[in-house]
Amino acid sequence: GMTLLFGALTACSSERSGGESGGGETGTDTPLIGIAMPTRSLERWNNDGAHLEELLAGAGYETTLQYADNKVDQQITQLQNMINQGADVLVIASIDGTALGPVLDAAAKEEIPVIAYDRLINDSEHVDYYATFDNEKVGTLQGEFIVEQLGLAGGAGPFNLEPFAGSPDDNNARFFFKGAWDVLSPYVEKGQLVVPSGKAPATVDDWTTIGIQGWESAKAQSEMENRLNSFYTDKKVDVVLSPNDSLALGIEQALEGGGYTPGDAWPLVTGQDADEANVKNMLAGKQAMTVWKDTRTLGDQVATMVQQIIDGEEVEVNDTTTYDNGVKVVPSYLLDPQVVTSDTVQSSLVDSGFYTADQLGL
Ligand code: BGC
Repeated sequence: GMTLLFGALTACSSERSGGESGGGETGTDTPLIGIAMPTRSLERWNNDGAHLEELLAGAGYETTLQYADNKVDQQITQLQNMINQGADVLVIASIDGTALGPVLDAAAKEEIPVIAYDRLINDSEHVDYYATFDNEKVGTLQGEFIVEQLGLAGGAGPFNLEPFAGSPDDNNARFFFKGAWDVLSPYVEKGQLVVPSGKAPATVDDWTTIGIQGWESAKAQSEMENRLNSFYTDKKVDVVLSPNDSLALGIEQALEGGGYTPGDAWPLVTGQDADEANVKNMLAGKQAMTVWKDTRTLGDQVATMVQQIIDGEEVEVNDTTTYDNGVKVVPSYLLDPQVVTSDTVQSSLVDSGFYTADQLGL
């Protein structure tokens, strides 16, 4: 009944006073925050969800945290249920950033503010804020790492490169690839980087042609196996641009299966997320770097946003130009990603408490 009673409220000031609203089973007006996460299959989303829930509970809110098994329809149903339960704010890490228009229309009818979490939601005006790590910078860091490690700026090469991109339905994947490709493509043009498989998109905009649907390790593995079997019978891969750790994991398995040995001309493989398995692979010489996004800081920022919305305060953002979702530029808060290599696992990941030394076998 919120819309009828408080139809004049704007999307940004969601102070509520109706006993029937929010609050779930308690029947009080404790704000209810709906958190929609894409999948439990990736370590990071489990951490993201748990951390955010803990922060919001600590702030005195009720939460409902849902994972959708990477299924778009399931995520839409979960969001509709949150709306029906009287959620006061929705925090959404979308699966398909273009598929949520209708359910966000339903949220807007109930004056429920929406925060896009990590991934932008496209083609809807009902996205109030966006909090993420600087996605293009993730790709830039991967590209620059490759340039530096291979000495490309000094003219070294040619090196055999195999590029990969993320899930075509994930808006972030485009930014990751663009960031990396803007750095690497000049060296492809100069012939210092060669792509034996031919799987180098003609332009950055064609990145989906090498996208791995659903960010699945197994799909990245079979794609890498195919490339090795078809194009590397008489040569070696020197470098693989992998946009994230789940793809890197599959690629590293394919390399191992293809007879590559760590420490002995093992290709340089990039990644993102600092997933536990990948950090272990870095320590084992199978992955050169990962771009670490300390998801605790993203959770902190989003919890602050939620609080500011609930309290009717101005919501803090630091970027109002980058993230055009096709309908509007969504006010964003961008956090800084950083490179981690085997040399900085201890100083970055362990000293900050992201992992214990024990977890990593250190
Ligand atoms: C996230 C990455 C993650 C990928 C796969 C992206 O949207 O930004 O951190 O690796 O999705 O879940």
